[in-house]
Amino acid sequence: MAVQVKVLSRPKRTFWDQSYLPEIARGLAVTLGHFFGAVTKPKENIITVQYPDEQVDYPHRYRGQHRLMVRDDGQVRCVACMCCSTICPANCIHIVAAEHDDPSIEKYPETFVIDHLRCIVCGLCVEACPCDAIRMDSGVHCEPFGHRGDSFLVRDLLMQRGGHSAATQGGRNSP
Ligand code: SF4
Ligand code: SF4
Repeated sequence: MAVQVKVLSRPKRTFWDQSYLPEIARGLAVTLGHFFGAVTKPKENIITVQYPDEQVDYPHRYRGQHRLMVRDDGQVRCVACMCCSTICPANCIHIVAAEHDDPSIEKYPETFVIDHLRCIVCGLCVEACPCDAIRMDSGVHCEPFGHRGDSFLVRDLLMQRGGHSAATQGGRNSP
């Protein structure tokens, strides 16, 4: 069977098409339309939020700022299981596990860092944690940073924000 080939003809371009002048004029008209719209009716046409002077209301389910919860004795609840860093789609949680002095606690995070400029605030780390060690606050945006280095949220800072969790460490069936 013969192969059927559809031949497409190249559209002819007029002098005006080749000059690009009509398209430039059309683009300028759109830009000027936005400009005069913003000048004459700013409330309707300017959608930029002047953060931090203005702030929008976050959706009910928005969770932004991370914190690490602590045990009754003030130690970090995290057992360095790596579930959060494994599930994190942005690969922005870095944990170095160390052996704990207490034999009833296998490991703790010697280093726990969240790179908040890479974080996409998806909340999966909170969902994955088996011992309520990491939480994200509803309606609270992460603080703005002045320097790149300040976006690395380290363990002690996250613990200061933390708080005591009422959940039984290790799950409901623990002694
Ligand atoms: S909120 Fe999402 S992207 Fe941010 S640290 Fe947790 S898992 Fe990673
Ligand atoms: S915060 Fe939770 S999930 Fe992440 S390493 Fe610690 S115990 Fe595991």
